[in-house]
Amino acid sequence: MRAYNFSAGPAILPEEVLKEAQAELVDYQGTGMSIMEMSHRGKEYSAIHEECIANIKKLLNIPEGYSVLFMTGGASSQFALIPMNLLGEGQTADYTNSGAWAAKAIKEGKLLGNVNIAADCGKEIPTRVPSIDELKLTDGAAYLHITSNETISGAQWKVFPENETLIADMSSDILSRPLDVSKFGMIYAGSQKNLAPAGITLVIIKDELADRCPDTVPTIMRYKTHIEGNSLFNTVPTFPVYILCLVTRWLLAKGGLEGMQKQNAEKAGKLYEAIDGTDFYTGTAVKEYRSNMNVTWRIANEELEPVFIEEAAKQNLKTLKGHRSVGGIRASIYNAFPVEGIDALVSFMKEFEAKHG
Ligand SMILES: *Cc1c(COP(=O)(O)O)cnc(C)c1O
Repeated sequence: MRAYNFSAGPAILPEEVLKEAQAELVDYQGTGMSIMEMSHRGKEYSAIHEECIANIKKLLNIPEGYSVLFMTGGASSQFALIPMNLLGEGQTADYTNSGAWAAKAIKEGKLLGNVNIAADCGKEIPTRVPSIDELKLTDGAAYLHITSNETISGAQWKVFPENETLIADMSSDILSRPLDVSKFGMIYAGSQKNLAPAGITLVIIKDELADRCPDTVPTIMRYKTHIEGNSLFNTVPTFPVYILCLVTRWLLAKGGLEGMQKQNAEKAGKLYEAIDGTDFYTGTAVKEYRSNMNVTWRIANEELEPVFIEEAAKQNLKTLKGHRSVGGIRASIYNAFPVEGIDALVSFMKEFEAKHG
């Protein structure tokens, strides 16, 4: 039996995708080889690579002048690569601090250049992301960096600031809703939350930004290298790209990102309704910034939280423990998380309150 897996990442993948991968794992389309065993420049893998890029362009309606890249090192590497490539000497980069992930991006930025914290609500409880009107931006900043969804705190940007060079870490909400990519300089996401298994980082970058890179940056660390090499400068992790390709097909068949957005809002809505319906539970994030991907809450009597997590697991509701740094309860309900699992959790929450409330 498949578990209702609320893991924040690596996270649930669509069951259909896993089954398809399983069916062709040992013998990919009559070749007698697994896709994992083939050249990253061969015919079969090339077709997957190109389809995956094309599907992402289609899903996000990506305009001309942007490249879709598969890189490695996770979103964490991007924290360093962004300032290395895009923050020129003497320039300042604006960053918003909305929580744990934003803070990690800021730390790397500071190692490499001047950083202005345009807004800081990183330690506030209830958790939130900054509002657009509180941003204190630098004239002529190299870029503005935001974290579109704080995976740990459960706060999400609903409207994005207008900025010439907006860069967003979308690790935990990429492909969960439609986006106007033309409003961004760059978007990036580690694969293991809403895309694929761990192993690749999806980067969508405006090509002209990549030209900013100083000559001293090593070849493999330049966005330009990966744009010119079509993400094949070195051996790309072929299996995660293959799974991502299957996931993008699944998304297209499900009505694309409009379909996902609607379903994600419904799923999160049911959980927030259950949380708000009683004083027994309290949402962690400020209502207007609540995440549709990572729903976080507390139980008034915090001692009951480990009991909740343990009893839920016995009912096949797995991995509901909040991040070790903050505690509480967290339900990560990415695209692939089924609606039935939400209904099961809502019933369990009611039962649990009746028993312990
Ligand atoms: C998980 C996560 C990261 C870190 O991703 P890695 O791929 O492990 O480097 C960065 N930012 C956000 C918002 C995340 O959720």
